[in-house]
Amino acid sequence: MTDPARDPGRATSCQGPYGTEGDPADCGDPVRFEVARHRRPPLRVCPVHLGPALLLADGVLWPPGISLIR
Ligand SMILES: [Zn+2]
Repeated sequence: MTDPARDPGRATSCQGPYGTEGDPADCGDPVRFEVARHRRPPLRVCPVHLGPALLLADGVLWPPGISLIR
């Protein structure tokens, strides 16, 4: 399976639930959205975790900056 949105060194599976640094509980689903964050790497999440990430992840901009990446 190829992923045209893939960049070297960037996650291609969901970092959910909320992308907390050091949280080992990766969702593992393919990412669909990238959420911009203030002074942090963008958070890549699947559709299920988009809502929780927007509300609970650290550094999410408001209004949120969301990119559909695939
Ligand atoms: Zn997820």
